[in-house]
Amino acid sequence: MLPDFLDLETADLEALVAELDLPEFRAKQLKEGQFRAISSFDELTNLPKKLRAYLNEHYFPGLPEIQNKLISDDGLSQKLVLAYPDGEVIEAVIMEQSYGHSLCLSSQVGCTMGCRFCASTGLAKARNLSRGELLGQFLLAEQLIAPAKITNLDLMGIGEPLDNYDEVLAFIRRLVDPDHRNFSARKICLSTCGLVPQIKRLAKEGLPLTLTISLHAPWQELRSEIMPISRAYPLNELMEAANYYFEQTGRRVSFEYALFAGVNDSPEAARALAQLLHGLNCHVNLIPANPVPGTDFQSVGREGAEKFLAILTHKGINATLRRSFGKDIQAACGQLRRSSLLEDQGYWC
Ligand code: SAH
Repeated sequence: MLPDFLDLETADLEALVAELDLPEFRAKQLKEGQFRAISSFDELTNLPKKLRAYLNEHYFPGLPEIQNKLISDDGLSQKLVLAYPDGEVIEAVIMEQSYGHSLCLSSQVGCTMGCRFCASTGLAKARNLSRGELLGQFLLAEQLIAPAKITNLDLMGIGEPLDNYDEVLAFIRRLVDPDHRNFSARKICLSTCGLVPQIKRLAKEGLPLTLTISLHAPWQELRSEIMPISRAYPLNELMEAANYYFEQTGRRVSFEYALFAGVNDSPEAARALAQLLHGLNCHVNLIPANPVPGTDFQSVGREGAEKFLAILTHKGINATLRRSFGKDIQAACGQLRRSSLLEDQGYWC
């Protein structure tokens, strides 16, 4: 398999140009070429033919292949099932919003975190996506909505971004680089199930990212039951890390709280959540959960979700109830990949 052109950093491009005995300005052209969403190096017509032929022979240009594309009934969400040259498949979702286009990317193929309610769990071994593979998802999505641009990026698809720390950070740094895409770090939302050491490390990166923590339970016992990561990094340590992130970056932390009927949706849970978050500058996103076939997690109804919200609001917690996007195209994390994997294995979904 050929190495990914999009994995090359500026220093690698400079080294390549030197190795091929080319003038230095070619490195800059190659760097620009990394943001052109090409499927063949022949599209980089500012490069000499010989160099294009060399690149075609030695590098994969970097865009994953669209294996499937589903558009929601309202036409606002597009779900992409994308395949990399090694045959691994991930998902990305583009959502048209009032403020622009947001893109939800996958950070890994599969996930090893084991959240019991999540469709990405348990079906296949995870591998990390490289910085170039992450960039490939972004470029492809932006090409599909051209001339519009991606305005908001969520690292909220398949995988745990902080479990793929170095590649995710290298991708973000390239995206926000003024010589590259010059994307706003504030418009990047990184979602984690709660890897405490990596949250603390992220706080020191000097990047004003929006950090979202998938909380889903206000008590340690319940959280460790549904999210095994909580056994390694208990709720009190997670809250301390969230506080630290806010102190270091000045960025308000968000919490995701999916409401599962009979699990975490009681008035006591709402009160416990308000108490847990009391005094922390944060925002809570309540999500009506997506039921995942094969698990016994069911979503709370609209009325129950609104009651939960009212308790939080009454207690002074900044919270909103998010409408659930793209249900008809299984836009929730890992759902489509899961159903195609299960179909392959002869299951119904
Ligand atoms: N690993 C990261 C990001 C990927 S999951 C994380 O855990 O944050 C993206 C979000 O979808 C997380 O908040 C996750 O908890 C949530 N999620 C997973 N399965 C869900 C389901 N069935 N219903 C609602 N939200 C779900």
